Amino acid sequence: MKRRLTLHFPREAVHQPITYRLAVDFDIAAKILRAQISPNQSGTMVVELSGDIDELTAAEAWLESQGLGLNRAPGQIAVDSSLCVDCGICSSVCPSGALRLAQPAWQLQFDAQRCLVCEQCIPSCPLDAISLVLAPP
Ligand code: SF4
Ligand code: SF4
Repeated sequence: MKRRLTLHFPREAVHQPITYRLAVDFDIAAKILRAQISPNQSGTMVVELSGDIDELTAAEAWLESQGLGLNRAPGQIAVDSSLCVDCGICSSVCPSGALRLAQPAWQLQFDAQRCLVCEQCIPSCPLDAISLVLAPP
């Protein structure tokens, strides 16, 4: 199965070979969807983890034991159709196919079931039509 997580790295943890350890110790494939980490500073990484459900749970516990903060359900993507002009730019950066221009009208369609909440589409929209709706605490 797959899980999408946002990992928050404290300064002490930014040099850890996280994806290597996940593969070797837990047999988990980590696909990095977005990363913002500077050397010797804290950072954030959005990853999609693929593997056995028990190993995923064990890996999450290990990540937390290493000092990383995990955000498992940050929210969901919303598209404001009143702003969208169906230019398709967002669909070109979407890694999962959740955003696509549907024929024959070439109108933008958003499939929330396919969305990884990687947030790559948000800055791509020139009209600020895409936003992240945060989950209630
Ligand atoms: S957040 Fe945006 S770019 Fe990422 S999978 Fe969802 S729709 Fe696609
Ligand atoms: S980039 Fe913005 S305006 Fe263009 S299709 Fe996507 S949501 Fe609509």
